[in-house]
Amino acid sequence: MRTVDLIEKKVNGEELTSEEISFLIHGFLDGSVPDYQMAAMQMAIVFRGMSDREATDLTMEMMHSGDIVDLSDLKGVKVDKHSTGGVGDTTTLVVAPLVAACGGTVAKMSGRGLGHTGGTLDKLEAIPGTQIEIPMDRFKRIVNHIGVAVIGQSGNLDPADKKMYALRDVTATVRSIPLIASSIMSKKLAAGADSIVLDVKVGSGAFMSTVEQAKELAKLMVEIGKRMGKRVVAILTDMNQPLGMAVGNALEVREAVQLLSGKIDKDDPLYRVCLMLGVYMLIVSNLTEDVETAKALLEAAIVSGAGLKKLRQMITAQGGDASYLCMERIDELCRVKEVRPIYPTRAGYIANIKAVCIGNAAQILGAGRATKADIIDPAVGLVMQKRYGDYVRADEPLCYMYINDSAKAEDAIREFHRAFTFSDTKPEERPMVYDVIGELP
Ligand code: URA
Ligand code: CA
Repeated sequence: MRTVDLIEKKVNGEELTSEEISFLIHGFLDGSVPDYQMAAMQMAIVFRGMSDREATDLTMEMMHSGDIVDLSDLKGVKVDKHSTGGVGDTTTLVVAPLVAACGGTVAKMSGRGLGHTGGTLDKLEAIPGTQIEIPMDRFKRIVNHIGVAVIGQSGNLDPADKKMYALRDVTATVRSIPLIASSIMSKKLAAGADSIVLDVKVGSGAFMSTVEQAKELAKLMVEIGKRMGKRVVAILTDMNQPLGMAVGNALEVREAVQLLSGKIDKDDPLYRVCLMLGVYMLIVSNLTEDVETAKALLEAAIVSGAGLKKLRQMITAQGGDASYLCMERIDELCRVKEVRPIYPTRAGYIANIKAVCIGNAAQILGAGRATKADIIDPAVGLVMQKRYGDYVRADEPLCYMYINDSAKAEDAIREFHRAFTFSDTKPEERPMVYDVIGELP
């Protein structure tokens, strides 16, 4: 087999066989397929696409390129969730303990944030002492004991994805539906879950900017899961503004604690998306078949405090100081030199918020990394005061910025203002959840 012939085949829009896909991935990992040939192939895939069968074969090859986590000795249906990258997306910190409080088994491996999106691991590390590098046997003991743990991916999980993603990142080949689907699904499947709930973001802050594209991605991921014998449900949610009000690590932990303490309104977008994810996690875990029952279970776990208690148990088990995780003490993690109100450049209705710019502003303040080596300041970030569609007066703050390094503030404020479009008339309402894809009972 010659790689050049396979590239030619894909350039012509033909389907690659399972053997050809296997040859490519093995060759890329052992160096016999050089970067330039893989980059050419990825570009051909961007333009020509892949059949569901090709995407499933690619996923399988990538999944088997490294360690596969075996969770079979854990009790219950192991359920995982994944979001396709968002701003102010604190859902894991809320939903993982909440689902565990309702009887689910959540053995989750998360990533770090890079660029404008925050990573769950960085948020967990904003809680003093919390360890995210935990040996597999201890991780499993924690999950068996309390039903939930969230740790970092093992070093050798899906090396094919690491190498392919690094190349895609610098060759403008990230935005391909089969490449994104295989990248996400290969990692989730290698991490050992039986069932997966995907939160596919739609909008300016997401990989997919239209509902049609997001639906296509969701359908492909559900199909790949099905072909591999897993139950997968995908929820399409809006990312035309930050999901929660808080953007920043400790600030997002605070918002999760507020939500789990019953302090956040049920109409709030973060609340609604957390509940939707929780509902389908309980359903794919076979804990209930019914959306309304699942919702009632989750709401009861918020009202009773069982979800917050589960988060505290998880943090304690992972070595962290859970005493901060209550309404009385959580502010202590968010202490900064200056909390500065930021006012709008004009009065009006908020007609658009580019979530990317909000994420960038928080990153500039020190909440995120521009390169892997950057060190995060857990306390900094911003807390939005207004949402899409709200009217804002010129003397009302759009957000409060949590600042430790005032030299960075001007750049952050400039980037923050770039996010907003104002109008004199109220913009039309937008749905928070666009669709649910996947087979339900
Ligand atoms: N997230 C991933 O893990 N991979 C992609 O290709 C895109 C988003
Ligand atoms: Ca996230």
